[in-house]
Amino acid sequence: DMYGDRQNSLGRDYSQAADREAHAKALELVDREKLTSGPIIGGKLRAGLNAQDVTNPFDRSQVLGHVSEAEAADIDAAVQAAAEAQVKWDRQGGAKRAIVLRAMADALEADLDRLVALLSREAGKTLNDGVAEVREAADFCRYYALLAERDFTAPETLKGPTGETNQLFLHGRGVFACISPWNFPLAIFTGQIAAALAAGNAVLAKPAEQTPLIAAEAVRLYHKAGLNPDLLALVPGRGETVGAMLVTHPGIDGVAFTGGTDTAAAINRSIAARPGAIIPFIAETGGLNGLFIDTTALKEQVIDDVIQSAFGSAGQRCSALRVLYVPKESADALIEGLKGALAVQTVADPADPKTDIGPVIDPESRRALEAHVERLSKEAKIIARAALPMGAEKGDLFAPTIAEIPTPDFLEREVFGPILHIYRYAPSDLKSVAGKLAARGYGLTLGVHSRIEAFAAEVIDLVPAGNVYVNRSITGAVVGVQPFGGEGLSGTGPKAGGPNSLIRYAAEKAISVNI
Ligand code: GLU
Repeated sequence: DMYGDRQNSLGRDYSQAADREAHAKALELVDREKLTSGPIIGGKLRAGLNAQDVTNPFDRSQVLGHVSEAEAADIDAAVQAAAEAQVKWDRQGGAKRAIVLRAMADALEADLDRLVALLSREAGKTLNDGVAEVREAADFCRYYALLAERDFTAPETLKGPTGETNQLFLHGRGVFACISPWNFPLAIFTGQIAAALAAGNAVLAKPAEQTPLIAAEAVRLYHKAGLNPDLLALVPGRGETVGAMLVTHPGIDGVAFTGGTDTAAAINRSIAARPGAIIPFIAETGGLNGLFIDTTALKEQVIDDVIQSAFGSAGQRCSALRVLYVPKESADALIEGLKGALAVQTVADPADPKTDIGPVIDPESRRALEAHVERLSKEAKIIARAALPMGAEKGDLFAPTIAEIPTPDFLEREVFGPILHIYRYAPSDLKSVAGKLAARGYGLTLGVHSRIEAFAAEVIDLVPAGNVYVNRSITGAVVGVQPFGGEGLSGTGPKAGGPNSLIRYAAEKAISVNI
């Protein structure tokens, strides 16, 4: 089968001195380099507008580099170059495109230590999260290379009446705008681009404002890997300016977006208002993710998986656990266990191999989380907060928090960060409690911990979700293993890293010949 010899990318082991030394060296390099990001059109960095410092979320006094914003003329030039180059790229077919994508995967792996260092400095990623992210970026490239070969090399022959041949071709739509988030500034940035390219499109990529440096590095790596620079432009800037120009540009033939649900809705409205064009919109957004346990769940396993799901990556994954539903009779013991497990988490500099939880992305995010904790302290009950190290105020460290909520519908929307909410439910109320979560309209990840299959089946039936995890953590979908993405307010699909990922990036053409 086509997946037979597929291999996911390999990692690092920071308990080994050699890996730690490579990391220290890479960190020194990144601290010295002072990278520059800005519009990259035709492989050339342009001056751009509103030049700004990019700083480290753990220590705002550290300037990592600079970024400038793309202006209308940059976008026009990039769209024109992309549209011209796309025609040949599309005609080349999937097998040729796969070669470039695989070269990109190799280039990412060859640069892993430096990329991990940059991810920790610019995006606050712990080393293990950084390694996972580089590997995921490489996995996306290799996986979409496979799909390009599978679906874009030869047409599918369909059955028809005698004397007629019927063939279905997939091809690129043209120029895609790919708009990506800061929480996976390399993996999702690279993955969206790889999907669009694999299907035969050219791309204008807008990274999140908070993480333009790693995005510029990814674009440079794509070009180094042999991609015609006209096929991939970088257009950094704010959503309100650059994002808005992109999604309403008449030369854009499709939009892929990962980020907040509200932003997705706004983009959807802008696209719909574009005169004379109907284009696809692929959105992957937030979640209000629950995990339900029953009295048969194994306590130690639940504690491990909950800590990882709620606090890993500082809770800044759209897949992260937001509400843990615990049956009344197990609640006290489990809460004690979670308190103990949170107390031993190290919240500190993400570039230090010993750190478990790094900072949140920016002051705005930190303030919103503090405001939410304020609400929890008044209307709910704070159970525990992790300790912050001395000097935490130089950046955006936020104390991970566990709170108990009084009602199952306490949370209306996603709260994006390391805050775990716990609700004690009476087993006889399961239906109505789960129904209240479902009624919020999200549908991203869902967890169940139980030894009873019927309990898992019931929860899965009650709560919509694109990704369900039973007796394990609910984050960290692996490319080609757990195709990732939600439904309802959580996104349009198709899922990232799955066998159907490319379909909406492509147009279909059926050719029938009477012979
Ligand atoms: N794919 C990631 C996971 O499974 C989440 C992606 C996101 O946060 O957007 O944890």
